[in-house]
Amino acid sequence: MTKTLFEKICDREIPADIVYEDELCVAFKDIHPQAPFHVQLVPRKPITMLANAEPGDQSLLGHLLLTAPKVAAAAGFGDAFRLAVNNGAAVGQSVFHLHIHILAGRPFKWPPG
Ligand code: C5P
Repeated sequence: MTKTLFEKICDREIPADIVYEDELCVAFKDIHPQAPFHVQLVPRKPITMLANAEPGDQSLLGHLLLTAPKVAAAAGFGDAFRLAVNNGAAVGQSVFHLHIHILAGRPFKWPPG
């Protein structure tokens, strides 16, 4: 099966500025950052979108949520970061491999646009 773009990044077939990795996930700097700190945290497993995650992915999803604060903290943003997940093209998902945006380093408005 064809690898997703983010699988290729995880497998280091496409260059990316990787800031964290473990056996389950990889975090790398976004190529079009929307904040001074903007990282994509992706599972190595190519789940297309959050809505397509399965019960068997429960521990993986928990791992991602526990890893995101560590990635932010390692960059000095442990107490002020935003996570975002776009689920579906209609809300802006452009890469169909689940990813958590970790953003920090500037003020953020609520609600997001
Ligand atoms: O949520 P969405 O699918 O729109 O986010 C995809 C993100 O992946 C974008 O922020 C885009 O800049 C980023 N990206 C990247 N490296 C690539 C391709 C996309 O950081 N090679």
